[in-house]
Amino acid sequence: MRTLQSCMGCQYRKLLGLLLFYIIASVISWHLIKLISRMALYGECPVNATWVREISELLERPSCNLDEPQKNKMLAHCKITMDPNSQTVRMMRSLPVLTPWLAPIIWEGTFDTKLLNSQFKPDLQVGLTVFAVKKYVQFLQNFLLSAEEHFMVGRKVHYYIFTDQPKKIPTIPLHHGRSAHILEIPAHQPWQEISMYRMEALSMMAKHRFYNEVQYLVCVDVDMVFNDHVGVEILGELVATLHPGYFTMPRYSLPYEHRPSSLAYISPAEGDFYYMGAIFAGTVAQIYQLTYACNRAIIADKSKGIEAVWHDESHLNRYLVRHKPTKVLSPEYMWDVYMLHGDLLKKKRFLAVTKDHEEIRS
Ligand code: UDP
Ligand code: MN
Repeated sequence: MRTLQSCMGCQYRKLLGLLLFYIIASVISWHLIKLISRMALYGECPVNATWVREISELLERPSCNLDEPQKNKMLAHCKITMDPNSQTVRMMRSLPVLTPWLAPIIWEGTFDTKLLNSQFKPDLQVGLTVFAVKKYVQFLQNFLLSAEEHFMVGRKVHYYIFTDQPKKIPTIPLHHGRSAHILEIPAHQPWQEISMYRMEALSMMAKHRFYNEVQYLVCVDVDMVFNDHVGVEILGELVATLHPGYFTMPRYSLPYEHRPSSLAYISPAEGDFYYMGAIFAGTVAQIYQLTYACNRAIIADKSKGIEAVWHDESHLNRYLVRHKPTKVLSPEYMWDVYMLHGDLLKKKRFLAVTKDHEEIRS
């Protein structure tokens, strides 16, 4: 009996020993795996030095014109961006080419222009909408010249220019099959009103005119220039563009509207990317629905005395949480020289023009 008991005891000890061995081995291998994958993912992070230099140079530029709180905000932003353990750096090691709902994200190298061109009929008509109100008419000349050079080359394009000063619109020689339409609108005050009014004007025109003339609409800011090829790869049912300042940032840091009282509110559990208001696209029907919904939300907010933190852009982001874009454009399609990580882009196709915000909006 005693022999049996002592034998059972020694089996228990063996089992216990084995269990302990497994636990210790698993812990060690878990840490080893973590260490190895971290080394593979981050390496020595050699670009950090470049970023530090970039940031210092940016902050020193006279045109940067940042006050102390803004500088601190910028530095905090950079701190997250440069932490080698952050989601940011992990993302940069593998720029996404698909959204979680499997929509393509368009970067150089992810599409074949020749093949795509063969999929669109030769009589395809694309509308490019742009607003040039008050001092912003000064951007039109370079905007249109660059569009003739790079935007939908060889395609039929309708430029829809919304302005309060039709007489000041420059006359640009347009390629065959391309035309400019001037649409007169009132000059709102302040500048945010002009920006937000775009949703109302676009929804009205989509309903009453655009659907008759074009299949797709591309809606953009005017303080921009095309700098490289932008073609049919950007067309789709509903197309949004990653904001160049946030494409490497973790979701919790995205500047959505955080006040539940606004209809642009996005809760911490929602949101995918932060999209830029300066370029979105889609079929006329989709753009009608988007602009109509955003305008309704802007009006409802106004009636409660609220304005979303980033105006129409906040409402656009809210809309796109529920209505996932069928295609997403990388920051190649909306770049700004003030943004970090330009070295990650093979092309900078659509560039923001540097402007003196206060002067131009006065
Ligand atoms: N806009 C305009 N006149 C103004 C203010 C804005 O025509 O006085 C239009 C213009 O198309 C501009 C867009 O609204 O590109 C958005 O404003 P802005 O470019 O100043 O915003 P940001 O890109 O700096 O956020
Ligand atoms: Mn702009």
